Amino acid sequence: MKKRLTFTILLVALLMLMPVQVGAACKHTYGKWTTDKAATYFATGKKSRECNKCGHVQTSTIPKKALVGTRKEIVTRIQVFLKATREYNLKKMDFCFSAAPKIWLPEPLRPIIKELNREYFSYKLINVKITGKAKAEVQAIVYYPDCYWPFTYALTEYMNYVYAHPKAKSSAYMSVLAKSIQKQLRYYEIAKEKKTITFKLIKSGKYWKIAKAGIQIENLTMANYASAYDDFFAGY
Ligand SMILES: [Zn+2]
Repeated sequence: MKKRLTFTILLVALLMLMPVQVGAACKHTYGKWTTDKAATYFATGKKSRECNKCGHVQTSTIPKKALVGTRKEIVTRIQVFLKATREYNLKKMDFCFSAAPKIWLPEPLRPIIKELNREYFSYKLINVKITGKAKAEVQAIVYYPDCYWPFTYALTEYMNYVYAHPKAKSSAYMSVLAKSIQKQLRYYEIAKEKKTITFKLIKSGKYWKIAKAGIQIENLTMANYASAYDDFFAGY
């Protein structure tokens, strides 16, 4: 009987304790926020703070830095360029440079690149930095189709045709090249090239323009055609 009573008392006591233990209603007193990951203009950050009584950690998101004024103008230029590349819109692409690079392809090849870029070209902006009075930098990760080998084999076929038909019109040569590229593209699984690119911009008159892009820009816009072309004809 006594044993039983003791047991009951113990049980009640335990039950009374339980919610206290489970709920553990600590009225947290947090310390200062610490930045775990700083926010950028393109990505949110993370911060956390700890309760100095129970050690509970609270985390929170730091919003992206506001993109305004000059920085916004600079970033917009790069966005316009990258979107225009995806669409292979030559007029728009040209406008984005202080001195237009060689991003033009012979007419018959343009629809091919356009289609490739639409499917494989994408980008992610990482950072924007004003580096001088009329100078800035934008960093971006860019993914673009790598058709180096299909282009190389197509150029071989093209040159064979040129040798066999030395008197054909240049438009005939171009259409042979276009057809050959299309044929080769069906044989190959198209790889994606990933590059982190730093675009250097200058303010030229009213507009921010790309002055340099730490990469052969024509490869970025033309699925590595420039590389394939240069390497192929370096052998001639
Ligand atoms: Zn606490």
